[in-house]
Amino acid sequence: MLEITTTRMQSRPVDEREIETLAAELDGYLVREGDAQYDSARAVWNGMIDRRPALIVRCHSPQDVQRAVRFASAHTLRLSVRGSGHHVAGSAVNDGGLVIDLSEMKQIQVDAQARTARAQPGVNWGELDRATQAYGLATPGGVVSDTGIAGLTLGGGFGWLRNKYGLSSDNLISAEIVTADGRLLKTNENENADLFWALRGGGGAFGIVTSFEYRLHPVGPDVFTLFCFHDGSRARELLRFYREFIASAPDEISSFAVLAKIPASEHFPAEHHGKPTLLFQACYLGDPAEGERLLQPLRDIAAPLVDLSSVMPFVEMQTLWDEEYPRGELRYYWRSTYLKTFSDEAIDRLIALIAEAPSALTTLDLWAMGGAFSRVAPDATAFAHRDAAMNIGIEANWADTADDEANIGWARRVTQELEPFSTGGQYLNFPGFFEEGEAALRQAYGSNYDRIMAIKAKYDPYHLFPMK
Ligand SMILES: Cc1cc2nc3c(=O)[nH]c(=O)nc-3n(C[C@H](O)[C@H](O)[C@H](O)COP(=O)(O)OP(=O)(O)OC[C@H]3O[C@@H](n4cnc5c(N)ncnc54)[C@H](O)[C@@H]3O)c2cc1C
Repeated sequence: MLEITTTRMQSRPVDEREIETLAAELDGYLVREGDAQYDSARAVWNGMIDRRPALIVRCHSPQDVQRAVRFASAHTLRLSVRGSGHHVAGSAVNDGGLVIDLSEMKQIQVDAQARTARAQPGVNWGELDRATQAYGLATPGGVVSDTGIAGLTLGGGFGWLRNKYGLSSDNLISAEIVTADGRLLKTNENENADLFWALRGGGGAFGIVTSFEYRLHPVGPDVFTLFCFHDGSRARELLRFYREFIASAPDEISSFAVLAKIPASEHFPAEHHGKPTLLFQACYLGDPAEGERLLQPLRDIAAPLVDLSSVMPFVEMQTLWDEEYPRGELRYYWRSTYLKTFSDEAIDRLIALIAEAPSALTTLDLWAMGGAFSRVAPDATAFAHRDAAMNIGIEANWADTADDEANIGWARRVTQELEPFSTGGQYLNFPGFFEEGEAALRQAYGSNYDRIMAIKAKYDPYHLFPMK
């Protein structure tokens, strides 16, 4: 007998013969304590997370997902679903329960003529971008190439194509999903349309997606990339200028501003390491020369500390942040809040708060919202927060266990201090550790909360799939 934790957090003995039967049926394989792969299979991106599941089902096919879901359902096991394991809360793994691990399901099919791509849930953005860019196409993804397409798309997904083409979830044409009863369903605007609506921003609460079909757009292959680090002591004036700039920028420009410290890396002169900085980063979709001309004011506004802006392949742009977010090495606690307006007061508060961050690795990421992202109606998909001026990513990043409390405390305080400026919403994919429970979901789902919960009740009445 193997003791496995149930959905009610009790321990239940499961007969070894049933586990062996499951293992024998799988196209993939089972990993459990004592196996050589156990430690790597339970490790996730956030170095703070150290959980020990009883069983990890490494799925290789949608049928494996069905087998694993039926097994979990029959024994009412505590369940986690893993795409690429990037969620900051470590929701891809649990203690004592079952993990349905999709990380080895990596098929991608691009139909260049139809401008669509189908990808399995273990694919990450670097892999999908490379496959679609082979045809000069792309779909909106995240800004770090190692991040999984699955969790990111289901929570919404913003990156460098958002002003022109919207969220990742806005570009989902269809999805196949295994529901709590073990069925494999097609979802799109016409089939299981309620479920398809919920998958676009409602997260992983409704079942396990085994295939994502995306709409593709012509992108690059070369794009002009603004990557300009200014002196942080001038952040107040620069952010006021940025506010004016984005108000009239065309949809071809998606950008953010980051309050941070210059990293101690070879890419930056040693005399600047550790200095407060305000980074402007942007991607222009279209003629790179025109992009450079349009984005020049964000470079000219002050003498940059370091300016790494250039024309580069889109796939390279998508890796610019990779080095800063090593898998498993650092400790991370990320939250977010949407701002109603980007007021002078909000700017001053943000500048004061970053100066109080306990870690030099920490950043405040100011994602300017607008364009196609904001033209989708809040109830068109499960992603409600369409009218915010900005999303503030509150990213506490640090190395030492001893500094956990100080860093987490700072990020929570920032969230509270930004409340007067906030719409009251937060992004499902940057929710801290979901420690506010139900309240965190209400903030993430906003005006779509009731509709999302009704769909949850219809497809997963016994809460097999965790909402957070
Ligand atoms: C370094 C880094 C950079 C990031 N950059 C961005 C960014 O630019 N833009 C942005 O919007 N977000 C960004 N994020 C947040 C990202 O969207 C989330 O972390 C997302 O959960 C990652 O997806 P994953 O598949 O790797 O997650 P996992 O940790 O594997 O999964 C997270 C949760 O998603 C659900 N899930 C995963 N796969 C499935 C599936 N197939 N079916 C059903 N549910 C599933 C499950 O509930 C699971 O617990 C970033 C995160 C990191 C760590």
